[in-house]
Amino acid sequence: ETIGANLDRTAARCADRDALVECATGRRWTYREFVTDVDALAVGLLEAGIGKGDRVGIWSPNRAEWTLTQYATAKIGAILVNINPAYRVHELEYVLNQAGIRLLVCARSFKSSDYVAMVEQVRPRCAELRQVVFLDTPEWRQLSGGPADPARLAGIGLSPDDPINIQYTSGTTGFPKGATLSHHNILNNGFFVGELCGYTETDRICIPVPFYHCFGMVMGNLAATSHGAAMIIPAEGFDPAATLAAVAAEACTSLYGVPTMFIAQLDLPGFADYDLSSLRTGIMAGSPCPVEVMKQVIDRMGMTEVAICYGMTETAPVSTQTRADDSLDRRVSTVGRVGPHLEVKIIDPATGLTVPRGIPGEFCTRGYSVMLGYWQQPDKTAEVIDTARWMHTGDLAVMNSDGYVSITGRIKDMVIRGGENVYPREIEEFLYTHPDILDAQVIGVPDPKYGEELMAWIRLRDGAPPLTAEALREFCTGKLAHYKIPRYVHLVTEFPMTVTGKIRKNEMRETARKLLN
Ligand code: ATP
Ligand code: MG
Repeated sequence: ETIGANLDRTAARCADRDALVECATGRRWTYREFVTDVDALAVGLLEAGIGKGDRVGIWSPNRAEWTLTQYATAKIGAILVNINPAYRVHELEYVLNQAGIRLLVCARSFKSSDYVAMVEQVRPRCAELRQVVFLDTPEWRQLSGGPADPARLAGIGLSPDDPINIQYTSGTTGFPKGATLSHHNILNNGFFVGELCGYTETDRICIPVPFYHCFGMVMGNLAATSHGAAMIIPAEGFDPAATLAAVAAEACTSLYGVPTMFIAQLDLPGFADYDLSSLRTGIMAGSPCPVEVMKQVIDRMGMTEVAICYGMTETAPVSTQTRADDSLDRRVSTVGRVGPHLEVKIIDPATGLTVPRGIPGEFCTRGYSVMLGYWQQPDKTAEVIDTARWMHTGDLAVMNSDGYVSITGRIKDMVIRGGENVYPREIEEFLYTHPDILDAQVIGVPDPKYGEELMAWIRLRDGAPPLTAEALREFCTGKLAHYKIPRYVHLVTEFPMTVTGKIRKNEMRETARKLLN
């Protein structure tokens, strides 16, 4: 099935139910109204000369127009290219040219960035870009406001295996790569994620995570529309108060976020004043969740069925998910079990052989979710998808005897000190137990004697006395094996992060090299 056909089926079944609510403006669409506006925009795109396979970029924070564009492009088989709202001219130009974007749908500004000025700046250097349509302008009204004639959309000849979406990876480990995904990849992933969350047409999903990332557009939007649930947009960007207010006002049953977003909401003064009693479930993903945060999400937010998901852009995205009845321990120490119709194996990266349960190795997955490839980068694709179609994720994981998977870090972050494999995650978790340490990240730095040595970057709690390397080593002695004890300590007030909230260890390693020279 294609995304457009699936949406039409849902709309026929749930015509008068809410499809989309934009809390910041109060705009709302039932499924009948939503499909009408999607079809009008789809016809408008055809009239603007966009056809199957053409790339349409979208550069906007979370607004209803994002979602309309997502479904309108799918209906005509155009390839939607998600552009990160935090990009600046350099990255914008790269994406416009790398994906060969022909039409760009664009907000005029977001926070302090002036998108109009940035687009004007790069436009002369983007040969394939024919048209830019800014939101809230007569051009947008013309593109989106014509007749919603479904007959115009018939006969395009769509196949579920057509590329439909290019999503750039977060760029945590280097320059972002354009994962090219089909209807089949993302519609199924959204559907199965929603299935495991138990969604029906009575669910209302609060989506404060960005649409440009698969967390928003697949696990949010596609999970909702494939089950007839409502998509609730609390604000353009993440705002903890607006999120809680949206849950209360719209009686949301599900709430999404990365762990830091939940922390911000739980810490909000006046948290107790929001009526969150409608919440039943939600998803936390993207990075590991501290146990205390998970407890509070369940107890204070009432999200008793909250799920943890693991995945990556290249796998549409979710590969493993916890189930509604999993224990608290499983929801913090594991990322759940493999999703329906997917295969997983954990291999020794050196030999390629599957390792026994309980032994760490590289997480590999195969099935409907694996992307078509990186857009126009066949060499990069061949590095991660092998000839048997297994996706090699570059993540280290352990599978226990019940099939539950724990992520132990990225292969590139693993440190080999004097021939011993050291997993930074294990040391970081130990360092959190130090009363003065708020956050800790461990990296490997070059060392003439051991090959690599360990360096801990530490954020101390407010008012804590400075921590020396000697004092830290003393704290670790007797509790960590000697080769896991960091040799260097670097005190910081923040870590280099991506906009999706991930720590850029590459950048830390570069800085560390300079510090040691
Ligand atoms: P790039 O590939 O450009 O370096 P990225 O890998 O961070 O960036 P994404 O596709 O957004 O880009 O993120 C996928 C990665 O996020 C996974 O490979 C994994 O390392 C991490 N991740 C995802 N979910 C979880 C989770 N539940 N727990 C721990 N890590 C996770
Ligand atoms: Mg990646």
